[in-house]
This record gives sequence, structure tokens and C-alpha cells, in this order.
Amino acid sequence: MSGIALVTGGNRGIGLATAQRLREDGWTVVVGSRSGQAPDGLDAVALDVSDAASIEQAFTEVEERFGPVALLVANAGMTRDTLLMRMSDDDIDIVLQTNLAGSIRLARRAMKGMIRAKGGSIVLVGSVVGLLGSAGQVNYAASKAGLVGVARSLAREVGSRGIRVNVIAPGFVETDMTAELDEAQRSAILNGIPLARYAQPAEIADAVAFLATAGYVTGAVIPVDGGLGMGH
Ligand code: NDP
Repeated sequence: MSGIALVTGGNRGIGLATAQRLREDGWTVVVGSRSGQAPDGLDAVALDVSDAASIEQAFTEVEERFGPVALLVANAGMTRDTLLMRMSDDDIDIVLQTNLAGSIRLARRAMKGMIRAKGGSIVLVGSVVGLLGSAGQVNYAASKAGLVGVARSLAREVGSRGIRVNVIAPGFVETDMTAELDEAQRSAILNGIPLARYAQPAEIADAVAFLATAGYVTGAVIPVDGGLGMGH
């Protein structure tokens, strides 16, 4: 597959694995990262997804340097975990701003070029906890549940223009994000996972690569969670 793929938060974790996989598949990959740097010889633009001006600037730069974005992977995300009773306004605002509002703004900007090109693919990186719920993650789970509504609404808005919008819902993946969990939390989580292990980032990248080119799939939520969220 060829075309320009923009992967937000592509400098580490799931985003980096996705960028590497898409490059192997033949995409011209541009990583959006806050530092404007990316490892592994990948091309990068500076992009803070919580900042509307940064999103506009990054897309303009990608279009000028590489061309229009045919595949957007809205992967950048963050947590600020604590019980709701203790959650600050800032914990609520920054997680929703980054994970949900950021993804909406990215999709809106990406659509400009995709409508002109009469096609494109948007993959939003959600989470199993958006559907399952997770104590201590009200802000994060809400942001990820919101992405399902975004994808399914936008899929209806732009399907006739050849633009597909889907969500990946990973379970627990070995990255810096889950490295923050202590042993007790890790073993409690593992007990609920039928495959009895965490995912590797490359296994999430496999599903993104599938959605990137799955021409008749839109508005879907693809679980990649070792069975953790079955039935949701
Ligand atoms: P990491 O914590 O390893 O990496 C997060 C990435 O997001 C980094 O590249 C980080 O950039 C970037 N990022 C965070 N905030 C911003 C911002 N405001 N602007 C631009 N980039 C930002 O996370 P993962 O790789 O684990 O997670 C990637 C995605 O997958 C997230 O959306 C996460 O919610 C989701 N996910 C992860 C799961 C897991 O178990 N790991 C499970 C389910 C979903 P920087 O290096 O600058 O901090």
C-alpha cells in the first residue's frame, strides 16, 4: 500500500510499532511527536494533539513536505488515573482534551485532504476500558468510549466519500503506560485475560495495518485484547 500515513505519538510504544509496521507495508510514514523527533530513521513533525494550533501546523507541514494524508492513526494518548473522588479538574480536562478532543480535531483536519482525494482511512486508538469500564480511570475510559461515538458518527458522515473511520480497542499492552502498574495490579489484570498475557505493541500494529486497507470495514471497533473484553 502506498500513500502518506500520519501516526500521532509515533515516537514510542504502540505508535512506534505501528509506524514501523506501516513502513514495512509500503506507506510513507510520518510520525507526529511532541518533540518533533522520531527514532529508527522515521520522518517526524512536531505535534501536540492537545493543542488545536499544533494540529493545524503539523498537517500543513506534512502536506508541504510529503503530500496529503491518506491514513491517520490517532494513537497519542495519556492517563491520569485516580478514583473519581480524588480526580482534579485538571486530570479530567487534560485527558479528555488529549485523547478525545485531540482525536476529533485530528480527524476533522485529516478529512480536508481525504475529501479532496475521494478516499482515506482514519484509525482511532481506543481501549478495552472504554467499553468495559475501569475503576480509577473514569476520565480515561470516558475519553476512549467517546472515540466509538466519534468513529461511528464520522463513518456515517463521510462513508459515501470513500473515507473509512474505525477504532482499535487494545487490551493491556507492554508499553511505558502499563509499566506504571504495580505487581498486584498486573496479576489481577492477567487473571481476567483469556490469553493470560499482555499484548506486544506489534500485535496492535497488526490490527491497525489491517484497518488501514480493509476497504469494506467502517464504523467498526476491533478488539485486540486477548479476550479480556469479550461480549462488550
Ligand atoms: P505510551 O505512554 O507508551 O506512549 C504514549 C504516546 O502518546 C507517546 O508517544 C506520547 O508522546 C504521546 N502523547 C501523549 N500525549 C500527547 C500529546 N498531547 N501530543 C502528542 N503526543 C502525545 O502509550 P502506549 O503506546 O501504551 O499507548 C498508545 C495509545 O494506545 C494511547 O492512546 C493509549 O491510550 C492506547 N492504549 C494503550 C494500552 C496499553 O495497555 N498500553 C491499552 C489500550 C489503549 P511523548 O513521548 O511526547 O510523551
